[in-house]
Amino acid sequence: MSAPAPDPEPLSPGLYIVATPIGNLGDITLRAIDILRRCDGVACEDTRVTGKLLKHLGISRPLWRYDDHSEPRDRERLVDSMATRSVALVSDAGTPLVSDPGYRLVNDARAQGVPVTVIPGASAAIAGLTVSGMPNDRFLFAGFLPGKDKARRETLEELAGIDATLVFYETAPRLLKSLAQIEQSLPNRDIAVARELTKMHEECRRGLAAGLIAWFEAHPPKGEIVLLVGPPPETTASGDDVDRLLLDAMQSEKPSRAAALVAKQTGRERSALYGRALELREK
Ligand code: SAM
Repeated sequence: MSAPAPDPEPLSPGLYIVATPIGNLGDITLRAIDILRRCDGVACEDTRVTGKLLKHLGISRPLWRYDDHSEPRDRERLVDSMATRSVALVSDAGTPLVSDPGYRLVNDARAQGVPVTVIPGASAAIAGLTVSGMPNDRFLFAGFLPGKDKARRETLEELAGIDATLVFYETAPRLLKSLAQIEQSLPNRDIAVARELTKMHEECRRGLAAGLIAWFEAHPPKGEIVLLVGPPPETTASGDDVDRLLLDAMQSEKPSRAAALVAKQTGRERSALYGRALELREK
C-alpha cells in the first residue's frame, strides 16, 4: 500500500486573486490549482459554482460567499482574517474584478497592508480581443453596456471618438439592440461578436452592424458574448469640411449635440469638435 500523499504546504497569509476558466475547464492554470489546494479558504461569488470547480479538481476547501454587495462588516472581517489566513478570491468564471466582484476587497486589503498576489489566467475580454483579430495596440474595455435605451445610446456616443478598439461584455438577449444602436451611433465600424469562447459552440463573426444584425436575426444568439467595435475609420475631412459640418449641425442643434453628430460623421474627437463649435458660434 502506498503512503498517503503529504498535506500540501500551507500558503503564507494574505489575499490571492485566482483566475478560473471561462468555459473550458482545461484552462485552469497549474498555479491556480496549487493555490486553491493550499489556501485556508476560498471567497467566491457563488459557492455552488466554485464548489463544482473544486470538486472537478479534487480539492476540498472551506468556501465563503463574498461579493461587492456583501456587508462592509463582513468584508472587514474577511480582510482582518487575512492577517493569519490565506484567502483565495475567485469569481464564477474568468478573472475576478473584471466586471466581477473583488474591487472593494482588494482595495481594502491593500489599505490594511495585506499582501495581495495575483494568479492570472483566462478573461473573456482578452480572449475575445485576441481571437477577433481586431486592432489591439489600443483597446478600451467598457464592461456591459447599460440596459436602458437612452443610457446605452449616451454611453456609445461618449465612446464614439475614442481611437481604440472598444470591448464590451454582452448578453444574448440584448445583442441585437446593441448592434442597432452601434449602427446609429458609431456607423461604418468593423464589429466582432465573439461567442461562447473556449466552449463547444465557440464562434467569432466579424462585419458591419447591418450584416451582423441580419445574421443574428436569422440565427438568434445564445450563450455568452464579447462584443468588439473597431476604432473610428481614418478621417479624411479637412478643417474646412469640419467647420462646415459643425455650422450646418448648429443650425438645428446646440454646440454639444452638433459636436457629437460631427464626431460620428468624421471619427474626430468630440471634445475638440465641441471647442471648435463654441469658437464658430462666437464668430
Ligand atoms: N470576470 C470575467 C472574465 O474575466 O472573463 C467576466 C465576468 S462577466 C460577469 C461575464 C461576461 O463575460 C458574460 O456576460 C460575457 O459577456 C463574458 N463572457 C464570459 N465568458 C465568456 C465566454 N466563454 N465567451 C464569451 N464571452 C464570455
